[in-house]
Amino acid sequence: MKPIDLRSDTLTQPTPAMRKAMANAEVGDDVFEEDPTLKKLETLAAKKTGKESALFVPSGTMGNLVSVLSHCQRGDEILLGDRSHIFLHEVGGIAALGGVHSRIIPNNPDGTLPLPLLENSIRQSDIHYPPTRLICLENTHNFCQGSPLSPEFMDSVRVLATKYGLKIHLDGARIFNAAVALDIEVETLTRQADSVMFCLSKGLSAPVGSLICSSRQFIQRARKFRKMVGGGMRQAGHLAAAGLVALENLVQRLKDDHLNAKTLAEQLALIKGIELDQTKIKTNIIFFKLNHPQIDGDTFINLLEAKSIKILMTDPGVFRAVLHRDVSREQTETVAQTIQSILTL
Ligand SMILES: *Cc1c(COP(=O)(O)O)cnc(C)c1O
Repeated sequence: MKPIDLRSDTLTQPTPAMRKAMANAEVGDDVFEEDPTLKKLETLAAKKTGKESALFVPSGTMGNLVSVLSHCQRGDEILLGDRSHIFLHEVGGIAALGGVHSRIIPNNPDGTLPLPLLENSIRQSDIHYPPTRLICLENTHNFCQGSPLSPEFMDSVRVLATKYGLKIHLDGARIFNAAVALDIEVETLTRQADSVMFCLSKGLSAPVGSLICSSRQFIQRARKFRKMVGGGMRQAGHLAAAGLVALENLVQRLKDDHLNAKTLAEQLALIKGIELDQTKIKTNIIFFKLNHPQIDGDTFINLLEAKSIKILMTDPGVFRAVLHRDVSREQTETVAQTIQSILTL
């Protein structure tokens, strides 16, 4: 039996329409900027985020790295959340490869940053200090229950950024989830960011790829940095073809994942031994704690695997389940029932 795999929405397989589009894509050498399908994807991505220009990159991690490199010089400081993907899960690339110094702000549980603390963390000019250059935000916030950040929060960060002459980079790996959850256009959430990265390879189900969207001038710099880190690709239009299908046809479908997440969270919250605040579940990501007298985290994972269900333990006793296109409503029922039976052993 094929497992029910809730470890991540990156596990989604390309749709039949994507496979067909990939096979038939018209392609060229993108380092020479001659791939028509890739150009089409970049144009559409720029339009959706309300930016002048866009750049295709192989991964979200490279998209964030190249964006930070394009904003900052070595020795600059950036402000980012302690639960942010850039800080926690990108191998420290901005420091290792960019010489960029991270100033960590504790995230609020909803993925926002406390504004007074953010403002207090912006450096004055002083011989001892690295210059603050950039604020990084994340929407939806992966490790804060997949929370969508509101346009109002973006507006208030913009006010600070403008006041102190800083730039804003938005890690919008799941920005389409945020827009669908809030029932607004993506552009409303990206307007206040100088640059935004989003992923095609998560809930949008494309096999590979992310986009950086920003001003024409910024994208020119980013193109150079992408080449520097080895991300210049040749006939990448084959990948872009799947991305076009994703952006054109699969965005509204994300609502199904959100509904499935909500239903699953409701059911899990009723199970003894599980700690979960279901009111926090707004998109496709569920975090919960296990609090059971006999079953520890590793045992729980093993018992689930034996029933062909996979979830991720992100910290001891803390689990993440991500809903996506390859998990049906019926399968979420199976997951809830299985967890119930394991914990009432
Ligand atoms: C997945 C993710 C990334 C990185 O994307 P990859 O394509 O896996 O490198 C960046 N930010 C957030 C919030 C993510 O969830």
